[in-house]
Formats: sequence, C-alpha cells, structure tokens
Amino acid sequence: MAADAQARRHVGLLPQTADFAVNLEASRRHLARFAAAPTLHLIGGVPTASASGETFSDQSPIDGTHLGEVAAGDAADVAAAASAAQDAFEEWSAKSGEQRKRILHTVADVIMARADEIAIVESADTGQTIRFMSSAAVRGAENFRFFADRAPAASDGLALPSEHHLNYTSRRAIGPVGVITPWNTPFMLSTWKIAPALAAGCTVVHKPAEWSPLTANLLAEAAADAGLPAGVLNVVHGFGDTAGRALTEHPDIKAIAFVGESATGSAIQAQGAPTLKRVHFELGGKNPVIVFDDADMERALDAVVFMIYSLNGERCTSSSRLLVQESIHDEFCARVAERTRAVPVGHPLDPDAVIGPLIHPRHCEKVRSYMDIARAEGAIVVEGTPWADAPRDGNWTVPTLITGASPRMRIAQEEIFGPVLTALPFSDEADAIKIANDTDYGLAAYIWTSEIGRAHRVAQALDAGMIWVNSQNVRHLPTPFGGTKASGIGRDGGDWSFDFYMETKNTSIALDTHHIARLGV
Ligand code: NAD
Repeated sequence: MAADAQARRHVGLLPQTADFAVNLEASRRHLARFAAAPTLHLIGGVPTASASGETFSDQSPIDGTHLGEVAAGDAADVAAAASAAQDAFEEWSAKSGEQRKRILHTVADVIMARADEIAIVESADTGQTIRFMSSAAVRGAENFRFFADRAPAASDGLALPSEHHLNYTSRRAIGPVGVITPWNTPFMLSTWKIAPALAAGCTVVHKPAEWSPLTANLLAEAAADAGLPAGVLNVVHGFGDTAGRALTEHPDIKAIAFVGESATGSAIQAQGAPTLKRVHFELGGKNPVIVFDDADMERALDAVVFMIYSLNGERCTSSSRLLVQESIHDEFCARVAERTRAVPVGHPLDPDAVIGPLIHPRHCEKVRSYMDIARAEGAIVVEGTPWADAPRDGNWTVPTLITGASPRMRIAQEEIFGPVLTALPFSDEADAIKIANDTDYGLAAYIWTSEIGRAHRVAQALDAGMIWVNSQNVRHLPTPFGGTKASGIGRDGGDWSFDFYMETKNTSIALDTHHIARLGV
C-alpha cells in the first residue's frame, strides 16, 4: 500500500498502536494482570473483593477465552461503596473549584500517560478496533480537561431582581451519585459522566458493564494516582439486576446517570422511584441519515459508511437507517454496497481492521438474527465479505446492507446495535420526515442536502435530540447531548451536566420595607 494511503487509514491512531505485532505483544503485557488476579471493586480507595466472595468470568470477544475473574458485587458491596462516597462527599464538595480543577487536570495527565495501555485493554475487552479505540484515552482525557476548566464556575448562578427583592441562584453538588455504563466505548462514556460529576463536587459510585469491565479500574487507578481523595470515585463491578439495581435503590445515592438500553432505563426509573432518584438517561437509537438528491454524494457516502461501520456499529448515534431519495436510491445503495464489501473485518488490535468481533456471543447472535428477520420480511441482505485473515471462532459478523425494506419492518424499527444498515427510499421532503420520525427512538438524525432552507426545515421537523447537517457525528463538548422519546431523558454536556449533578438554590433578599400583610392584628 502506498505510504500516503497507509497514513490516511491510520489517522488518529496513537503512533504506539499502529503496528499489529506490537499491539499483540502489548495486549499480552497489559492483560496479564487481569488473568493473574481477580479485578476487584475499588471502595474508599481500597481494592476490595465482594463481600460474598463471588466473581464472574470476563471473556474475550475475539476468541471467547477467559480474560480474568471480576468481583461480582451485590447490595452489600454497593452499600460499602455508597458509604465511602457519602463519607468523602463533605470534604470533596467543600474544595474550591480551583482545587478540583487542578486535580481533574492531573487525572487527564495520568490518563494520557497510560493512553496506549487504555487503548489496548479497551480494544481487547470490547472487540472494537484499535483504529477507533486508540482515541479512547485521548477523548477521556479531553472530557476531564473540559469539565476541570469549568469547575470553578460550576456553582455560579443568575441574578433575577424584582421590584422589592434581589433574587440570585447558586448551585451546589447534589451528593453522592451513581454512574451506570454500557459495554460499548466504556472508557470514553464513563469519563463523559464521571468528569462533570467530580467537577461539580459530587462523589461517585461507578457500576461498569459486566461485558467490558476492565478499563473502569484503569480510570479509577488514574484518578487515585492523580491525587483524587479516597472514596471520591468508587467502582463496584457486577450484574445489572444485582449491583446495578442496588445502586439505583440506595438511599444515599441522590442521582443516577445511566447509559444503556431503553428497557433498562424503564426498570431503573421504577427501582429509583421509592428513593425519588434524579435520573439522566442516554438510551437506544435508530437514527436516520437522510440523503436528498441534491446532496454532495461523495461526502454523504463517506459519512453514511463511517456512521454505521465505525465502532462495529455498536454506537448509540450510528445512522442505522439510510433514507435515500428515490431518484438516486439505486445508484447510492449500489455504492454503499460496494463500500460495505470492502470494509475490512479483522482482529481488533490490527490497525487495518475496521470491524472487530462483537462484544459477546449473545449480542452477536442477536445481530445475526436480524439477517433472518430481514429475509423473512422480504428484504434483500447484502453482506460484506469477511476479511480473509479474520479469525472465525469469536463473535464475528460482517458489515451488512439491507435493501428492499419498508419503514414498518422490524429491521427498520428495532435497534440492532451492530454493523447493519437498513436502506429505505423516500419520495420527497414530507415523506422523508414522516419515515424518519416513524420510530420509538429520537436520539440523533443526519441530513444531507445542498439547499439551506430545506436543511433548516427538515432539522426543525425531525423529532430527535441531535441533528447534524452535511456531517457525521462530530462532538463539541459544550453542546447538549441526549434524545427524545425512547432515546432518553434529559441532556448532558456543557452546563447541562452541571444542572444534573447539582441542586439549584434561589436566595431572595428584600431590598426595602415592602408591604407584608398583618394577620391577627
Ligand atoms: P444495558 O441496558 O443492558 O446495560 C447497561 C448497564 O446497565 C450495564 O452496566 C448493566 O449492568 C446495567 N443494568 C442492567 N440492568 C440493570 C438494572 N435493572 N438496574 C441497574 N442497572 C442495570 O445496555 P448495554 O447492552 O450494556 O448497552 C447497549 C445499549 O446502550 C444500546 O441500547 C445503546 O443504544 C445504548 N447506548 C446509548 C448511548 C446514548 O448516549 N444514548 C450511548 C451508548 C450506548
């Protein structure tokens, strides 16, 4: 391959992760500790086994081999972690914003010092390819720096004067909070929740996903090495219906930031109701990418292929429904199919691979089942060709385009959460909007058109929390992130994160001797 093509393919890779053999050797080195001893909870700064002594096996998505045992937490471990978070809260929340800022920047420094280790472990534990996981630590560190810089002003409020009173608002940390994360891009997603919580002055109990638990400990270790006081960030491993449930039910935990499936969000809302838990939910998506016939076809094609096949399609903002105007439908789909066949499937640590193994045999089975569902529904399944060297005994699947579908088919309605794209033709703008909004989800949507008025009209009409026009998903940290309908409750990002992790207080001061009704006189 020409050097410039090679360089283009490896844009964004940490230089130290650009060689497959080096990555394999690094993974043996970095994974050895997880095989040698169980991965424990981190409670009050201390690695802690489950009170029950129970562990579960963490398995490689690459070949199903056992990566190591992980402590299986339950209510007793969550209670210990919540107590540690409660004990640490007073001192941490009383620190000045400047003090928190300094510590959180140091956390970012330590994350960056361990960036290749984090990238390799994340890739090996999730199956998402190093091409994308290489930036896991970089993006995690950026999240810490962004919220660190905002810590000093987090408690600021508004002045709202009235005729007789000066009202002013201020914010303070809500208390210890629970953060529950899914198995896709777990390191980056965890930092996205944990960094603003810490910047706000909250203490945290983090329950990572049981299918990709390892990098949660790397994050907590980085935080401890950076000088975060013991008990400010605690980790309890385990399953959703034990450790996760106990966290959502614990009375000392004031709020739950949750990223995961919509059905789990419903369960958490019910579990948290008796303790009046504040919740923030980032849930599933079935995001449309709408390509009008006046769009820049080359860029639209690049974005469509990128947004479904990057990160194994295991990303909440993937554009998994391709809505193409009828006049260009066949030609555009033919070009997507051509790209689909050329997307390389391979070992996640191979820098040339785009798609790696899916996270777990159960998830892989679910994704594959949609091929049968599509055929049974009468659609056409265009599968990509597996890369010649791809191993066959893990959770492998191939990039897939489904054509000949209609909007109410299951493949056009349900979140598949894999590298599977369902194409749907539309006739005109109104038809595109109708099809795009005809789903339970409303996380993100993408519009491709060269007509500026249409871009705005369609953006306003789409029922989704985030719209990109003539672009793939590009995050800007001050902007709000979240969805409508079954895709979530609330927003985070920028100041929205502080609104969630803090209580707003209004103080009203009389400016004069205004009238007070004299009762009983
Ligand atoms: P999941 O809902 O199965 O699990 C997520 C987390 O919740 C895990 O840590 C799990 O142990 C825990 N959990 C499960 N049941 C629980 C319960 N009853 N109480 C408390 N915790 C419980 O989701 P997943 O399969 O790990 O992740 C994939 C899903 O996440 C997809 O639907 C995807 O769209 C969604 N997701 C959304 C976003 C977003 O920003 N909207 C981002 C990433 C992933």
